[in-house]
Amino acid sequence: MEFVKRVGFIGLGLMGSGMSMNLLKAGFPLTVWNRTRSKMKPLLDAGAEGAGSPREVAERSDVVIDIVTDSPDVEEVLLGPEGVIHGAKPGTIVIDMSTISPAVTRRIAAELAKKDIRMLDAPVSGGAIGARNRTLSIMVGGDAETFQECLPIFQAMGKTITHVGGHGMGQTVKLCNQILVGLNMLAVAEALMFASKAGVDLEKAYAAVSGGAAGSWQLTNNGARLLKGDLEPGFKVKDYLKDLRLIMETAAEIKMPLVGTSVVHQMFRSLDAEGLREKGTQAVIRAVEKLAEAKLLK
Ligand code: NAP
Repeated sequence: MEFVKRVGFIGLGLMGSGMSMNLLKAGFPLTVWNRTRSKMKPLLDAGAEGAGSPREVAERSDVVIDIVTDSPDVEEVLLGPEGVIHGAKPGTIVIDMSTISPAVTRRIAAELAKKDIRMLDAPVSGGAIGARNRTLSIMVGGDAETFQECLPIFQAMGKTITHVGGHGMGQTVKLCNQILVGLNMLAVAEALMFASKAGVDLEKAYAAVSGGAAGSWQLTNNGARLLKGDLEPGFKVKDYLKDLRLIMETAAEIKMPLVGTSVVHQMFRSLDAEGLREKGTQAVIRAVEKLAEAKLLK
């Protein structure tokens, strides 16, 4: 019989809760930990074991996955006083699925390697719905053999799974994804505002351009939300601001001018100033409306 890996899971937020549930459904023996312990309950009810710390998760696992917020949070759960590094045996694989800095990722991978712990960076795209429905895109950096070994684990959580290079490259491709997301979102908001201000029927304009060469995921999904005046989050402004910071830091490191993304960054900063951090990224329409001195929906 094939050896089934014992999986540990750290971070049961919007993303981690759905992803860990899918690992359980796929038959992986699962140990979970979350800082706010109450969020562990649905997983424990479904058959997962609970641990008292990231260290304890590592003691009971062959592969440890984490998906928390930002670079310092990943450092804390992996390298902190109660971190994975203190419980993992040599040969353990750590998979960080958060969106964090590629440079910090490489630093963490080097620290873990000192104890013969292998690491993959495997950020995701597809939101909480993708996490729940097992349709995530997963971009993986790290050693190719370790990637192959973890493929069944990735397949239990996502649909499009791509090994893109060495340590940090998964994170770099995720930032590339976020450049596309932001410029697309701004294009959708600006184009719809243009149609509205010029007096075109918005529903008709939307239908006419959706199926052509300008069609996109952002237009289909967030464009439709804008037509209903719905600013509730699929993906929050505050989370995208974090990603924009990571994009700009990385761009500075590699001396890459990002002209379009800089405009997107300033537009999203204005949303922050307006107190719209908890809204969805389609709220960029508020910044476009201010510049146009007009409302999208009459
Ligand atoms: P979330 O719902 O806010 O959950 C964050 C999780 O991280 C929670 O379990 C939180 O614990 C834990 N956490 C944060 N800081 C921690 C620390 N210092 N120590 C221990 N635990 C900590 O966020 P999410 O939407 O699941 O996002 C998680 C990651 O996935 C982020 O890097 C995000 O950029 C990325 N991502 C999100 C989406 C999306 O659409 N939401 C899509 C793709 C990628 P508590 O419960 O105790 O707060």
